[in-house]
Amino acid sequence: NTPLHELDPDVAAAVDAELHRQQSTLEMIASENFAPLAVMEAQGSVLTNKYAEGYPGRRYYGGCEHVDVTEQIAIDRVKELFGAEYANVQPHSGASANQAALFALAQPGDTILGLDLAHGGHLTHGMRLNFSGKQFDVVAYHVDDEGRVDMAEVERLAEEHRPKVIIAGWSAYPRQLDFAEFRRIADKAGAYLWVDMAHFAGLVAAGLHPNPVPYADVVTSTTHKTLGGPRGGIILAKKDFAKKLNSSVFPGFQGGPLEHVIAAKAVSFKVAASEEFKERQRRTVEGARLLAERLTAPDAREAGVNVLSGGTDVHLVLVDLRESELDGQQAEDRLHEVGITVNRNAVPNDPRPPMVTSGLRIGTPALATRGFTAEDFAEVADVVAEALKPSYDAGALKARVSALADKHPLYPGLK
Ligand code: PLP
Repeated sequence: NTPLHELDPDVAAAVDAELHRQQSTLEMIASENFAPLAVMEAQGSVLTNKYAEGYPGRRYYGGCEHVDVTEQIAIDRVKELFGAEYANVQPHSGASANQAALFALAQPGDTILGLDLAHGGHLTHGMRLNFSGKQFDVVAYHVDDEGRVDMAEVERLAEEHRPKVIIAGWSAYPRQLDFAEFRRIADKAGAYLWVDMAHFAGLVAAGLHPNPVPYADVVTSTTHKTLGGPRGGIILAKKDFAKKLNSSVFPGFQGGPLEHVIAAKAVSFKVAASEEFKERQRRTVEGARLLAERLTAPDAREAGVNVLSGGTDVHLVLVDLRESELDGQQAEDRLHEVGITVNRNAVPNDPRPPMVTSGLRIGTPALATRGFTAEDFAEVADVVAEALKPSYDAGALKARVSALADKHPLYPGLK
């Protein structure tokens, strides 16, 4: 029972350095968040030792009486949180949840219709090199010139190709989707509707975003983005899909569930039902709105910076750098230099290659979790806007970033 620092100083040093990085910089990757200590405690618990193939009350291993309790709590809480008839909390990740969901709804060779990766979709929605693109016949819809999902195109493609599944969901899109319209189109085309709410699940839980659960046949999500829990996936659905989805997850794609992560998911669902969580999500959305406002101000526009769709309704902003002297890579590096972590991101019809891009995706969930207020977000937005100008003062901006990080200590009990 030797502590990590003694048993493996090399790994311990890297973990310590990562803690310091998270504490001293501003995390603005839209898909990241800071899990509460209690979530990490559950995830680092003895539950990591337990095999529990099967589902609560129907396991293929003995000794599951305690993990049955935690898994059932997770299922009950997440059903309650989103108003779902069925939940599976075992997917190891968002991609695993999506794989299990897709294979429960369709057979290899069937047609699926999803948002193009280059227009904000996810790899698992039909990207060429992903299982979804390799094993299914993919048709993609796009965003229009205003940066909004082109619902007329969705309807036209659905009628023309009669897909087995229509996928509504995104990894990089700053607006809300019209789930009722997706449902209408799916019904007309005889397709299943699968919503991947990985990015905006926290906003849904807080009542700040329409809930897809009443409209979709199946809803998947990650638990670590806006939802703020441990890394993992979930599947929600109408009861009719329960059997198919359960057997698609296990034994279809997974073996033993990660019961330590499932217990941590249960804790995060409790947090997500709280008033404090709602308040945090409100700051998240407000922070993104302030950022979009600042990055569309005249001085930002003069520096060639713009925001896709002209603003945001969610937790992220997509910065359009097509008119800037900076490409996505250079802008990401520029923000990194002043202590802000973001990721470069392709804009629709991006003239630059995917490893370079002409955009940035900037999100506010992690800073909102850290306690950032509207006033703090206004300061962050100003730092970002200044950093993207040709005449930026790295030293001064770094000092402003440090002041913000110091104002909101992260994991103060950890060293
Ligand atoms: N679905 C969407 C919409 C996502 O944005 C992501 C992750 O970025 C995933 C699924 C996959 O989640 P994971 O990285 O946990 O596999």
